[in-house]
Amino acid sequence: MKAEIIAVGTEILLGQIDNTNTTFLAEELAGLGIEVYYQSVVGDNPKRLEEALELADQRSDLTVLCGGLGPTDDDLTKQVTAKHVGQELVTDEGGYQNLLVFFEKRERPMTENNRLQALVFKDGESLQNSNGLAVGIFYQTPTGNSYLLLPGPPNELKPMFFNEAIPLLQNHFQTDEQLISRVLRFYGIGESELVTKLADLIKHQSNPTIASYAKPNEVTLRLTVSTTDKNDGKQKLDQMEEVILDRVGDYFYGYGENNSLVEVVVELLKKQKKTVSAAESLTAGSFQAMLGSVSGVSEVFPGGFVTYSETTKEQLLNLDSKMLEKYGTVSKECAEAMAIQAKKLAHSDFALSFTGVAGPDSLEDQKAGTVWIGLATEEGVESYLYHFTRNRNYIRHSAVMTGLDLLRK
Ligand code: ATP
Ligand code: MG
Repeated sequence: MKAEIIAVGTEILLGQIDNTNTTFLAEELAGLGIEVYYQSVVGDNPKRLEEALELADQRSDLTVLCGGLGPTDDDLTKQVTAKHVGQELVTDEGGYQNLLVFFEKRERPMTENNRLQALVFKDGESLQNSNGLAVGIFYQTPTGNSYLLLPGPPNELKPMFFNEAIPLLQNHFQTDEQLISRVLRFYGIGESELVTKLADLIKHQSNPTIASYAKPNEVTLRLTVSTTDKNDGKQKLDQMEEVILDRVGDYFYGYGENNSLVEVVVELLKKQKKTVSAAESLTAGSFQAMLGSVSGVSEVFPGGFVTYSETTKEQLLNLDSKMLEKYGTVSKECAEAMAIQAKKLAHSDFALSFTGVAGPDSLEDQKAGTVWIGLATEEGVESYLYHFTRNRNYIRHSAVMTGLDLLRK
């Protein structure tokens, strides 16, 4: 089984946007056990796309195309591919309803070209778009060449891939076999360190396979097992998970593709019926903004403080000016006082505080990256000193993520 990826879009050719879709798809297909042999980029040009499809037919069983499913004149992936495989384009009922609802909600008239986004291959399968309008397509020719057409915007492509494409691919390419995946999420360990600790497992992986992905400050591992028996597959995943967590369990915080650290923490607080507030200097509200990104967070987050200057630390948090003068704002004493006051003033069960040097310059004779995080709980207050590296915003982001991790523990 050989697969290839064709990203369609002149803006990718010109280097105006990063081709993150191909990276994403290559990793995900590998995680599914589908081997990608070729990748290419084609501009919004029917002749060259047709040439790319002809080449793909000769060398690949599955061709994944991304981009160019939209309504404008330069979006021609669907039209060119339909012609290439001799498929008529017909309206997909689900996709068309989606369009109607979209324009009704916005009280805007639907233009004729928008209908194009609901067109699919007559004998193909449709992939619904939970984040946009263009319907995706899967089609297998009678001679066995398969095509998967996905939209360009990553926020549409990714959910469509996870929710719609994976079951289809499993269905078509693993007759008795099925692929079962489990995603493990880690925080506080870099991808290279994680991979090093699991090097022998990764080197000798066969079934389950192990694929790692890094995001800023987070690493995920996707374990995929190919099996004819669900229970047997689950057991194999359990065994592999146990071996992995034996080595790097300290950094493990949860399961699933979409559960970021902040979601896990909010869920945990909800379960415990606890609330958290914060007093932020260094992070200037980023911690609270991140909490705010989770729906339903109001149950666990009454609010907090952004106290960047000494004056606001004194005036909003009632910190003692003599204490600040004696120890400085980048200090254990300041971090602990901030956390205690935030907890008290917001009437919360927990409070975090962030104070430190984002850089690039030093502050109070302390190097950029020096960060104190305070955690006030019902039992008292603790504080932790960190030395983060890289640039200003990475340091601030690291502080936020570390704060979340402290709460989780
Ligand atoms: P739309 O309905 O938005 O037009 P589309 O399926 O036609 O979607 P394109 O027009 O090719 O897709 O691309 C739309 C946007 O999606 C691009 O401007 C870009 O921001 C993003 N995009 C497209 N291709 C890629 C890619 N390979 N990697 C990352 N982002 C991409
Ligand atoms: Mg487009």
